[in-house]
Amino acid sequence: MRVAVVGAGVIGVTSAFAVKSAFPSYEVKIFADVFSPDTTGDGSAGLWGPYLLSDTPAEDIIRWADNTHKWFEQLWKAGLSPKTGVCLLPVTRVTSDYPSDIDPPWAKIVYGFQKLSNERLQQLNKDHKSNYKQGWHFVTYTAEPVLLLPWLMEKFAALGGKMEKRNIKMLHQLADEGYDLIINCSGLGARELVADKTMIPIRGQVYRVKASWAKHCFLADDDACNYIIPNIHSVVLGGTHQEGDFNCSAEEEDSKHIYDGCCRIMPSLKASEIMRTWVGLRPGRSRIRLECESLSSPMGKEFKVIHNYGHGGSGVTLCWGCALDVVEMIRNLKVPELNSKL
Ligand SMILES: Cc1cc2nc3c(=O)[nH]c(=O)nc-3n(C[C@H](O)[C@H](O)[C@H](O)COP(=O)(O)OP(=O)(O)OC[C@H]3O[C@@H](n4cnc5c(N)ncnc54)[C@H](O)[C@@H]3O)c2cc1C
Repeated sequence: MRVAVVGAGVIGVTSAFAVKSAFPSYEVKIFADVFSPDTTGDGSAGLWGPYLLSDTPAEDIIRWADNTHKWFEQLWKAGLSPKTGVCLLPVTRVTSDYPSDIDPPWAKIVYGFQKLSNERLQQLNKDHKSNYKQGWHFVTYTAEPVLLLPWLMEKFAALGGKMEKRNIKMLHQLADEGYDLIINCSGLGARELVADKTMIPIRGQVYRVKASWAKHCFLADDDACNYIIPNIHSVVLGGTHQEGDFNCSAEEEDSKHIYDGCCRIMPSLKASEIMRTWVGLRPGRSRIRLECESLSSPMGKEFKVIHNYGHGGSGVTLCWGCALDVVEMIRNLKVPELNSKL
């Protein structure tokens, strides 16, 4: 069985690693024009937390997010944090949405979930000059893709997985080269690769700063959308989410919004050293596409495609859960030559 994975972002690499681990006899090869440290996830802090997922069904989000959280827990417990970038950290998340008696669906996945008291909210609103209506405190993981991806690629290669830097114009190219199954993890690239024009960029600009004293993550789901996420050697300050914006250059106006907003939340950041400004385009879609399709090439070769793209602002949060679903889909494929080697 020959499997081609298109894409070397956090979705492609986790899918390739999961497939090669589950089916060691398969030939699995990643094709991508961009590898770490230049993929979309590499600039992100890799915080676990469902975000910007539009109409993706809640039960799917929770299953994928929960399985990924469990995987991060295993990496953490195995002492792999320095290599994988997996850290455990306290998070305060506030929103300007009106309070609800129902906890967010992910509340049971994180550790020590609790609502902020009215007194605490009032204090935060006074300190931040904000208008938060509700908030939560909990503990969860970050998995820094810039560390996680090279570690995973090394593991994948050690299992016999292959990688090639190459642009793929059409999926059937790979079928004509003898691949039986193609896993499409092309992110925003799906706009061209499979002509999915429902894919839209959700532009995100961030600062990475040195502030070793910042040990607490703060996320504001309000109009300003500022956030502070500590990583191992740096802290990510955000952010923006500009839908439909393909601009990959940092904008002065966004930099000011991020710096001023984050310093308002945590004034000690004024003493931080700015390391870099970075812009990434989240692969936005009305709902994540994780499904199987049967196709045939113009040369008549029949092949299967498993699409796994459109993870918006949550690619790191959902990566391992989605990769496990890909493995499950392969197990369920009703194709004799696919199943004969399982
Ligand atoms: C500022 C910012 C902050 C973020 N923070 C977080 C966070 O804290 N937590 C979280 O969970 N998520 C976060 N995200 C979202 C997350 O980074 C993305 O959801 C995730 O990186 C998407 O991964 P991907 O593998 O689908 O896409 P990408 O990383 O974009 O990878 C796509 C891959 O496909 C390849 N490709 C595409 N087309 C072709 C082609 N035709 N031929 C060959 N190769 C092709 C590319 O070369 C690349 O390797 C953030 C994003 C941004 C921008």
